[in-house]
Amino acid sequence: MRDRHSGVTISRSNDTIVTKAQGRSRIVQKHILIVEDEPAIRDMVAFALRKAGMEAAHAADARGAQSMIAERVPDLILLDWMLPGMSGLDLARRLRKEDLTRDVPIIMLTARGEETDRVGGLEAGVDDYVVKPFSPRELIARINAVMRRTHGVDGDGGVSIGALRIDSGAHRVYARQEPKYLEGSGGTVEAASDAIVPIGPTEYRLLHFFMTHAERVYSRSQLLDYVWGGSVYVEERTVDVHIRRLRKTLEPFGCQDLVQTVRGAGYRFSTTPAE
Ligand code: CA
Repeated sequence: MRDRHSGVTISRSNDTIVTKAQGRSRIVQKHILIVEDEPAIRDMVAFALRKAGMEAAHAADARGAQSMIAERVPDLILLDWMLPGMSGLDLARRLRKEDLTRDVPIIMLTARGEETDRVGGLEAGVDDYVVKPFSPRELIARINAVMRRTHGVDGDGGVSIGALRIDSGAHRVYARQEPKYLEGSGGTVEAASDAIVPIGPTEYRLLHFFMTHAERVYSRSQLLDYVWGGSVYVEERTVDVHIRRLRKTLEPFGCQDLVQTVRGAGYRFSTTPAE
């Protein structure tokens, strides 16, 4: 199968994202808030962000971060786990509870890689992790991947990621087909078209959740809450069964690798190949 899911349907040039606002396109520079108490890391990250065409602001602790956010809500927050005073994790929990910051993507910067910590962060609603020491390049790639989630959703509730498009109004999933060369037609090309993906109701709900929450890791219990609804009693391995079915559904369209297993944590829907 060819790799057909390398792109997202937003126009990008370098690291600026072109979004449609009131029918017109405008270029938006990403505004990133770095919350980190170590000046050396803070400066390195700020430099890398600016070099990548993003705006960088920084704070050294949770209190500083909150006053920066009150002034301007960032497009994404890079949050150090170990901060003096309130921990990064507690700040993440707090930001998730407030209307203003509920949907702001958070990437944790952490020196720890233990599974228990990862799960703690997932429960707090953290979008991704970058483990120290990291390269500026790795960080920028993770930021871009997480940002696609926020910018990939269009106004009608339709979402396109890679070759997949979901139309929530029609409850349909489409897969973009590559243009085909028709045999014996003297080089005539059949136009690229969308094929309808036949999908079961649970797999549809799962895919819809993933596509509207891409580039973010979810534990099995979170998926049960969000996709099945917390009141229903379903075993966690049911999630694995439907993940398998979803991959099988996407396989004929070459999109099965978008559904990624994150060891010790859960699942992620991503156009960036899994580590
Ligand atoms: Ca620290």
